[in-house]
Amino acid sequence: MPIRAQMGMVMNLDKCIGCHTCSVTCKNVWTNRRGTEYVWFNNVETRPGRGYPRDWEDQDRWRGGWTLDRKGKLKLKSGGRIKKALNIFHNPDLPTIDDFYEPWTYDYEHLISAPSSEHQPVARPESQISGEPLDLQWGPNWDDDLAGSAEHAANDPNRRGALEERIRMEFEQSFMMYLPRICEHCINPSCVASCPSGAMYKREEDGIVLVDQETCRGWRYCVSGCPYKKTYFNWDTGKAEKCTFCYPRIEAGLPTVCAETCVGRLRHIGVVLYDSDSVVAAASVPDEHDLLGAQLGMFLDPEDPEVRRRAEADGIPHDWIEAARRSPVYDLAVRWRVALPLHPEYRTLPMVWYVPPLSPVMSLVEEGVDPDVDPGDVFGAIDQLRIPVEYLASMLSAGDPEPVRLALRRLAAMRAYKRTETVDGDADAALARAVGIEPEDMELMFRQVAIGDYDDRYVIPKAHPEAGPVDPNTLQGACGLEWVDREIRGGEVDDSFDLRDHIVRVEGQAR
Ligand code: SF4
Ligand code: SF4
Repeated sequence: MPIRAQMGMVMNLDKCIGCHTCSVTCKNVWTNRRGTEYVWFNNVETRPGRGYPRDWEDQDRWRGGWTLDRKGKLKLKSGGRIKKALNIFHNPDLPTIDDFYEPWTYDYEHLISAPSSEHQPVARPESQISGEPLDLQWGPNWDDDLAGSAEHAANDPNRRGALEERIRMEFEQSFMMYLPRICEHCINPSCVASCPSGAMYKREEDGIVLVDQETCRGWRYCVSGCPYKKTYFNWDTGKAEKCTFCYPRIEAGLPTVCAETCVGRLRHIGVVLYDSDSVVAAASVPDEHDLLGAQLGMFLDPEDPEVRRRAEADGIPHDWIEAARRSPVYDLAVRWRVALPLHPEYRTLPMVWYVPPLSPVMSLVEEGVDPDVDPGDVFGAIDQLRIPVEYLASMLSAGDPEPVRLALRRLAAMRAYKRTETVDGDADAALARAVGIEPEDMELMFRQVAIGDYDDRYVIPKAHPEAGPVDPNTLQGACGLEWVDREIRGGEVDDSFDLRDHIVRVEGQAR
């Protein structure tokens, strides 16, 4: 089986300020249309919290992703074809609009047309679907910045077991963090396997997962099959839609809209090479704690000449292989192991990874506010983290705290290393080596994690349309699904306008 190239993203949670710019810019480009009012391809959740849709991580309830059968073989948690056929008119695992939220706007007209009265007029909320007045009970950011968390955070599925008491006790110290989310563009996508129509597919050339709007029959099994709840049903067109990883921009060598507009500059995009032969084995390891290691083991070292030779023989363009050598995703996730996948236990082999947040512990250390923490012992402080390591592990390493500890120790060592350079005038190489990183690599890590500029964070090779058909309906570098709306809804279509005539010619590439 051939080597494949996969586009991936790493988000550095230490830098997210929860501004939602990524969500808003994504929405303006992709889901600012009738039928998708409630849809956020990119959303940002406050943790602890319930997320969007509500409690999406509770797979006992939603049954998304994969599990192993008694013989140790992968099977969809929601069941196979027979179960789907029996439930085709009633899918019990499907979230309702109330689990997402009923989208609303406000009766602004009333503000200017209300008759004169003793009190100021009020713009009341009304449903964007029915137009009826709405009694707001839930929204996509209902528990934003811990709003109402005394009530809602108790339902966070990551607070299971022993953590429940500990997190409640630490609530007084107001720990919180942000979790920006998009589709994971999984290597083993359960949405694709769940689709009875064959409309969901994973692109061979870059691994981006898309929905063919013409083939989709609106059965919505992709919605229930995705454990991250990152496919959505457009109630107006009757088709599924999902995050496209802004593929027309990616094809032109540009970052996704969410990454380009991220205020914290915390998103990194790059290519990794993997052996497609190893996918099933990596997703099927019996112990959930081994899933991270199994996924890491799939990625091939682009510095290995034999890997490069094989990749080229398997048809991966030379410039893609060179991009893989400079990939920030490979560096952060594989080389330095400071980025971790979201819920690897879903067995979809997700490809949006996260650098866990360190800031609260470093402020304890640096400000000396916790008498139990020795300011000289940056590593000892990891377990004093106000965000318990176990909570992060529940999200990022199937509950195994060791990969999270390693990432945090390396990030803490990087700060301490640079601090010695600034304060003492000489970087302490022993601090880098204590976490298994050579000083030269520590400098590279600092550049990527702390001060990386545009070209460091985004290493995106352009598409090679000559290698295969590219959807002629999309403009390279442009985004949006308006053309789908026009075609599917049979709305006004300007026949004189043929997008094929307007496709931007990418430098030096014939299309
Ligand atoms: S995260 Fe994306 S690729 Fe993975 S299963 Fe869900 S929709 Fe599919
Ligand atoms: S734009 Fe960046 S910093 Fe702002 S919420 Fe999104 S991911 Fe976080």
